[in-house]
Amino acid sequence: MIPVAFDYVRVESADEALAQLVEHGDEAKLMAGGHSLLPMMKFRLAYPSVVVDIGRLHDLSYIRDQGDHVAIGALTRHRAIEVSDLVKEHAPLLAHTTGQVGDPQVRHRGTIGGSLAHADAAADHPSALLALNGSVIVKGPDGEREIAAVDLFTGFLESSIEETELITEIRIPKFTGKGWSFQKMNRRAQDWAIVGASVQVAASGQQGEAGVQVSLINMHSTPIRATAVEEALAGGASASEAAELAAEGMEPSSDLNASVEFRQHLARVLVGRGLAEAGVS
Ligand SMILES: Cc1cc2nc3c(=O)[nH]c(=O)nc-3n(C[C@H](O)[C@H](O)[C@H](O)COP(=O)(O)OP(=O)(O)OC[C@H]3O[C@@H](n4cnc5c(N)ncnc54)[C@H](O)[C@@H]3O)c2cc1C
Repeated sequence: MIPVAFDYVRVESADEALAQLVEHGDEAKLMAGGHSLLPMMKFRLAYPSVVVDIGRLHDLSYIRDQGDHVAIGALTRHRAIEVSDLVKEHAPLLAHTTGQVGDPQVRHRGTIGGSLAHADAAADHPSALLALNGSVIVKGPDGEREIAAVDLFTGFLESSIEETELITEIRIPKFTGKGWSFQKMNRRAQDWAIVGASVQVAASGQQGEAGVQVSLINMHSTPIRATAVEEALAGGASASEAAELAAEGMEPSSDLNASVEFRQHLARVLVGRGLAEAGVS
C-alpha cells in the first residue's frame, strides 16, 4: 500500500520538533522508529501531511540512574533497554518485556517513546509501564509535565499527550519489591501478544495490602490495569481467586487470533501464572 503524499522534515532538536507541531497542528506526525507510524500510513489509517522525523535526536537516547528511578530518553531503542545492566538491575520487568517485543530488527528500530505514544492496547511496553507505576515526561510549548501511566492511555490508540507535545523521558521507579512476571501468549516468538499480563509485587505487596500491580495486554481498547485482580488481592483473596477476576470490566475484541471468550480465558490463565511466578500465593 502507498501512503498519501506528505512532506518530510528532519529535525535536530526537541525544540525544532515542537515548533513543527505548533506550526502544523494535527496535520503533523512525529516519526521516531517509524515501526508503527509507517504501517498506519501505508494502510491509510494515518495520513499526516507533514512527517517530522525525530529519529536522530540522539540527546533523547539515554538510560540514567536518577536515585529513586531510572530515566530513559524517549528515543531509546528497544534493544538498548533490553541489554541495559541498569534496567536489568532496577527495572527487571521492563528489561525482560522489551526483549519480547517483535524480533531483533523491530527492537533495533523501535523506540520506547514511540511505543508509549502509540498507546496500542496490544503492545508490550504500555502494560509494563502500568505495572511498574511509571510515568512519562512530555514537553510542549508551555513547558514540561509528567503524566502517570494510569493517566496516559485514554482510548483506542489515544493518549493524554496533546498534539503539540512530545515525550522526552520515561521514568521507572526502581524495583525494590518481591517479584515480577511478564506473560505473553503468542503463536510465534516474534508475534504481538494475543493476550499478555504484567505483574509486579511491591515490598509490602502481601495479600490484604495494596501493592500488587497487574496490567493486561489486548484485553480492552486501551492498555489497562486489572483493578479487579488488584482489589481482590488487597482484600485478602488468594492468587487463584484473584486470577479468576482477570477479565472483569474488560471488553476484549474478537479477531482471527482469538474470540472474546478465548481472550477472557487467557487473561485468567496468564494472570494466574504471572502471580505465581511473582511469588503471590
Ligand atoms: C513487524 C513488527 C512487529 C512488532 N511487534 C511488536 C510486539 O511484539 N510488541 C510490541 O509492543 N510492539 C511491536 N511492534 C511495534 C514496535 O514496538 C514499534 O517500535 C513501536 O510501537 C513504535 O515505536 P516507534 O519508535 O517505531 O514509533 P513510530 O512508529 O515512529 O511512532 C508511533 C507513534 O508515536 C508517535 N511518537 C513517536 N515518538 C514520539 C514521542 N517521543 N513523543 C510523542 N509522540 C511520539 C508518532 O507520532 C506515532 O503516532 C512491532 C512492529 C513491527 C513493525
